[in-house]
Amino acid sequence: MARLETVRTFYDLPAAEVARATLIGHGIPSHLLDAHLAGTAWHYIFALGGIRLVVVDEYLVLARRVLEAPQATGADADAIDPCPACGAEDAFRRGSLALGVLGFLAARIPLPVAFGRRLCRACGATWRQPA
Ligand SMILES: [Zn+2]
Repeated sequence: MARLETVRTFYDLPAAEVARATLIGHGIPSHLLDAHLAGTAWHYIFALGGIRLVVVDEYLVLARRVLEAPQATGADADAIDPCPACGAEDAFRRGSLALGVLGFLAARIPLPVAFGRRLCRACGATWRQPA
């Protein structure tokens, strides 16, 4: 008979939802126990020992492996290619911070600024990275 096993316990509902979505994305059916309580009476979560992310026992090992594996994040998708001049990988976007602050001051909301200009910290070369 199948049993529910706790994969991980959370005290933070968004983190629990992300972990559950990660499992579902890997085809692992999962549920969050006491998540409704975390949304309405979060202070009870500490007494209950956290929000439990559970799976049917046959998925337990796979679920733990999935959650322990490094996840692809938006940062990976937004990775910057190495410098074409020297190959350094610590290049950064030029001016994005200043324009982001200006956008925040002008509109009172942080605006994502993504220009294609890159500056290499190592050699000072600049280039345009295709979007
Ligand atoms: Zn360089």
